[in-house]
Amino acid sequence: MITAATRPDLVGLVPEEAEATLRTFLGERGHPSYRVAQVLTWVYDQDSLSPGEMSNLPRALRDQLAEAFQFTAPEVAKISRSVDGTTKQLWRLPDGELIESVLIPTSSRLTLCISSQAGCAMACSFCATGWAGYRRQLSPGEIVAQYRGARRWARENGYGEISNIVFMGMGEPLMNPKALFPALTILSRGYRVGARRITVSTVGVVPGILRMAEMPEQFRLAVSLHAPNHELRQQLIPLEKKYPLPELLDALRRFDHAGGKRITFEYVMIDGVTDAPELADELASVVGEFTAFVNLIPFNPIPGTEWRPSSRARLSYFVQQLQARGISAFVRESRGSDIAAACGQLRAEVTQGRKPVQISAR
Ligand code: SAH
Repeated sequence: MITAATRPDLVGLVPEEAEATLRTFLGERGHPSYRVAQVLTWVYDQDSLSPGEMSNLPRALRDQLAEAFQFTAPEVAKISRSVDGTTKQLWRLPDGELIESVLIPTSSRLTLCISSQAGCAMACSFCATGWAGYRRQLSPGEIVAQYRGARRWARENGYGEISNIVFMGMGEPLMNPKALFPALTILSRGYRVGARRITVSTVGVVPGILRMAEMPEQFRLAVSLHAPNHELRQQLIPLEKKYPLPELLDALRRFDHAGGKRITFEYVMIDGVTDAPELADELASVVGEFTAFVNLIPFNPIPGTEWRPSSRARLSYFVQQLQARGISAFVRESRGSDIAAACGQLRAEVTQGRKPVQISAR
């Protein structure tokens, strides 16, 4: 018997698999082969969320598709819009889990920030997602569905086309390789979002970085460095104990030497924690060997900590020190902090239907 669990998810198959599966399925039911391309056009180009919307297909075929396949389409639980145009979508997955994605418009781009896990197991001390704990892995279809849903919303609400995708939402993408890598293939080959316009952000999962170094496509890598030495980094990021900085840097060298793949280092600027003047120099020494950008992210306040963002003066000091050493460094201005959509603030909060997350000071 075909159940929801065994029905293949057409949104979560890599394009070659989706095509082969459809070819067999339609062939066995006597449909002409040009229907394969029609279905795939609906999936990849038309944002159709279910076969019911595939209006150029015969009704019988639509019914057969609906019966045999899943088309993962999470329900929108809440949409929040910031004064700066940033929009956060809270999605409810079929089992009730909640995840978030964020649309960030600028003059030249529309970036979609998506989640790779429900919650996060990394427990970085400065990040609200980590404090709220880990729930479960997302499937490839659940990752891609955020793009499909956000793209449809953006088109319908005058935001235009999504130009860039960043895996900077909830979760650690390289801790979910079973879903991340297929999702990357689906987004780039199915939806034709160029690999260079897709960024995977990691806290430093070495095996995943090595795998990315070996990929022929030029997906971009962002590394949440946040500290230039092992001692400070391990206080902020528990994973530093498993993959200490020297090992992480070795993996990044492999990525860097693979060519054409510029790394972005992210460095959170927390007043009195990560912004001591001597750390600027140390940071420059660590990142200086890479063809890299450094994004300085002013700390976004989260519940449960007293930490504050660094002063403007300290931010410019860091930028100057890095630039003086020939390193491209920028301050990444927070977007959407009024709706808790900025980096580190995502924790899938709803006011009803779920107990608020308890965060103890530690
Ligand atoms: N797990 C991945 C993806 C999360 S991306 C990673 O760690 O890279 C979210 C980015 O926001 C990461 O660079 C993260 O370290 C940063 N971040 C987390 N909490 C933050 C906060 N409170 N203020 C500013 N940046 C934060």
